[in-house]
Amino acid sequence: MKKSFYLTLTVFFTFIFLFVFSVRYFENSNMEKLKKDNSYTVVLDNTTKASIAKVSDKAIHYRKINLNIWSVNLILSFAIPIIFILSGLSRKLSEFVKRISRNYIIQLALFFIFFTLISCIITFPLDYYRGFVHRHNFGLSNQTFYKWFSNYLKGFTINTLITSIFIWVPYFIINKSPKRWWLYNGLLSIPVLMFVTFISPMYIDPLFNQYTPIQNKDLQTKIEEQLKIADISNSKVYQVNKSVDTKEMNAYMTGVFNSKRIVLWDTTINNLTQGETLSITAHEIGHYVMGDVWKSIVLGGALFTLVLYLVNKSLLWILHKWRDILGVRRIVDVGAMPLIILLLNIFLFLANPITNTYSRYVEREADRYALELTKDNSSVITSTIKLHENSLSLPKVSKIYEVWYYSHPSYYDRVIFAKEYAPWKENKPLKYIK
Ligand SMILES: [Zn+2]
Repeated sequence: MKKSFYLTLTVFFTFIFLFVFSVRYFENSNMEKLKKDNSYTVVLDNTTKASIAKVSDKAIHYRKINLNIWSVNLILSFAIPIIFILSGLSRKLSEFVKRISRNYIIQLALFFIFFTLISCIITFPLDYYRGFVHRHNFGLSNQTFYKWFSNYLKGFTINTLITSIFIWVPYFIINKSPKRWWLYNGLLSIPVLMFVTFISPMYIDPLFNQYTPIQNKDLQTKIEEQLKIADISNSKVYQVNKSVDTKEMNAYMTGVFNSKRIVLWDTTINNLTQGETLSITAHEIGHYVMGDVWKSIVLGGALFTLVLYLVNKSLLWILHKWRDILGVRRIVDVGAMPLIILLLNIFLFLANPITNTYSRYVEREADRYALELTKDNSSVITSTIKLHENSLSLPKVSKIYEVWYYSHPSYYDRVIFAKEYAPWKENKPLKYIK
C-alpha cells in the first residue's frame, strides 16, 4: 500500500519535472532562434512602415529569469500541499483547530487561514523577488517597497478573509450531497464569478489604485464615439494611475450592467498616440460586445465543474486506497483540505491548454473587431509592438508554452494579422461592424 503511494508520487513528479524540462528546452531554443533573427519590418503601404526590433539581450535575460521563476512556482504549487500531507502538518493543524473550536464552520475557516499563512511564508521570498526585485532590476517597476508590500498584504488579507468566511458553503454542499457535490459546487461557481466580476471593479480595484475620468477630453470624445458605434454608450471610461507602479501599459474592459467600464492605464495614454490608444480601446470594446465577459464566466464555470468532477473521482479513489497513510478518511474532514487543494491545482494545470486555447481565439477576434472598428491597421500594428517591446515580451514563443500558458497569440502573429486583415479595402463584408 505504502509502496504504491510513493510510486504514484514519484511518477507524478517525474511527469512534472519532464514537463518543466521540455518547456525550458523549447523556450531556450526559441530564444536562440530569436537571437539570430534580424528586425522585421512590416510594410503596410508606400507611406506606412513599422518595425519589430531585433530582440534585445535584456529581453532574453528577462525571459530566462521568468522561466526560472515559473519552474519553481509550478513545482511549489504541488509540493506545498504534499508537504502538508506527508509531514503530518495537516493532521496536527486539524487537531489544533479542533481544540480551538468545536464548531465545524470555524474549524474550516481557521484551517484555511493557517494553511494559506504557512504557504505564504514559504512562497514569500519568491513572490518578493518576482513582484519587486526582478521587475526593478529590469526597469519595469516604479513601485516603492512600501507600496508593493502594502498591496501584497491587502491582496492576501482580502482573499484569505473572504474565502475563509465562505469556505463552509462548498463543504455544506459536499455534506448534503456526497455524490453530486461537484455538480452543485461547479454550477454555484457561475453566480459567484458573476458577483465578483460585478463588484470587484467597483469595490476591490479602487483599494489598490486611483480611478479618475479620462483627462484628455479629445480622447474621451473619441472613445465615446467608439462606444456609440458599438451600442454600449452607457459604459464608463476611466484612467487609472498605474504609472506610480509600473512602466508597462495596458487597458481592459470589465464589469457587467452598470458597473461596465473601460479602464486605461495612464501609462498607455502617456506613451501612445491617440490612434494607438483608440486601437486598444476598440479591442476592449470588442471583448465586451462579443460577450466575452459572460462567455468566460459560463464556460469557466462549466470547465470548473468538470475539474471538480475529476477532483471528486480521484479523491474517492485516493481515500479508498491510501487513507491510512494520509490520515484522513472523508472528503469533508478538515485535514483533507490540502489534498483537495493539491488535486485542484493538478486538474487546473491540466485544464490550462483548454482555457488558453479558447482565450487565444477570443483575443484574435477582439483584434479583428478593433481593426474593423478603427480601420486603422497601422495604429493596431504599432500599438501592439510598443506595448510588448515596452514590457520586454518576446515576439515569438515555443509551441508548448503557447498552448499551455499564452492567453494571447504571440505578438508577432498579432502584428501579421493586423497587417493582413482589411476586408473593407476590397469592399468585402465585415464580420462584426455592419
Ligand atoms: Zn484582449
